[in-house]
Amino acid sequence: TRVLLTGGSGFIAAHVLNVLLGRGHSVVTTVRSQAKADAIRRTHPKISNDRLSFFIVEDIAQPNAFDLAVVTDPPFEAVIHTASPYHFHAKDAQELLAPAIIGTTGILKSVQKYAPLVKRVVVTSSFAAINDVFASSADKVYSEADWSPITEEQANDSPANAYRASKTFAERAAWEFVEREKPSFTLSVINPPLVLGPINHNLTSLNTLNTSNQRIRDLVSGAAKVRCPPTGNYLFVDVRDLGLAHVLAIEKEAAGGKRFFTVSSHFSNAEITEIISEEFPKYKNRLPTGDALKPGEYSADGVYGFDNTRAREILGIQFRPLRESIVDAVKSLMPLGVDR
Ligand code: NDP
Repeated sequence: TRVLLTGGSGFIAAHVLNVLLGRGHSVVTTVRSQAKADAIRRTHPKISNDRLSFFIVEDIAQPNAFDLAVVTDPPFEAVIHTASPYHFHAKDAQELLAPAIIGTTGILKSVQKYAPLVKRVVVTSSFAAINDVFASSADKVYSEADWSPITEEQANDSPANAYRASKTFAERAAWEFVEREKPSFTLSVINPPLVLGPINHNLTSLNTLNTSNQRIRDLVSGAAKVRCPPTGNYLFVDVRDLGLAHVLAIEKEAAGGKRFFTVSSHFSNAEITEIISEEFPKYKNRLPTGDALKPGEYSADGVYGFDNTRAREILGIQFRPLRESIVDAVKSLMPLGVDR
């Protein structure tokens, strides 16, 4: 299948791209600069230009940003939209809301107008669009049936809420678009919780490491020894399984019109720390102990559950366990000097 992948320079998109190419698809990926295109090109030296090429979209928050990107010869049959800012240092909620919402509605509009052969659009949403962070929820079992109740007002309360709102409003806007416009493609949405696992996207510095792997970087480097980073949620998925989920969502007819809550298991800082200490004993002295592990511990009342039945049964994903994800993430950070 001929696929358009947005945000090819990202941590997750790099794995989506690997799976797409590995399963024989032909891909055009959007990036913000030629330098980013060149870096991705270098990681796939054996893949021909017919099967991997690039289109520059500098800012997805611009209306019509994707109008030219969706037109290609031979035409696209599927689109995977991963691009969206993910960080916790926005000075203003709009910094995240605009690219998330306009980016998502923008690609759907461009596909509807200019790419009539597209049958499936897959959008990367988040557990942030499912989770009610304001509820005390020890008894709750989250699934695709749940929606975050976050409001526009709450989006302005903190950078973390701005991010949660950006994912929630963008996903809502996508479903509303499909409902209203009845386009000729079907929509699938992937809702991952914290994504961990090996990086393979040409990073040259740990300073630009994607947000979700910063926890592992800070544990191995010793930066978290005095205090662990807090945990916004207690569920994780491995990036390789998530990459596969995105591709299966374009391959499987039955995935149309559905959200997929792609979860492997719970995680806490204490569990990650224990795995690093057992698998990489030389880092033991850098790891937090005792009170330093408190931020990000499971609440005393217990922690919510999850139901990943749909992702296992319809997509057929078998989720990797936390240990494999952590071990491979740590190994992938070593060439960048995480242990120096
Ligand atoms: P990255 O930061 O690695 O990737 C984000 C991607 O979006 C990059 O390619 C980035 O481009 C691109 N991007 C951001 N803003 C713009 C913009 N204004 N114009 C054009 N491109 C833009 O993060 P992830 O790979 O982790 O995130 C990918 C997706 O997964 C996001 O939608 C995120 O919300 C979602 N997600 C991630 C989770 C996680 O734990 N990692 C959990 C749940 C959902 P550039 O590299 O040039 O900055």
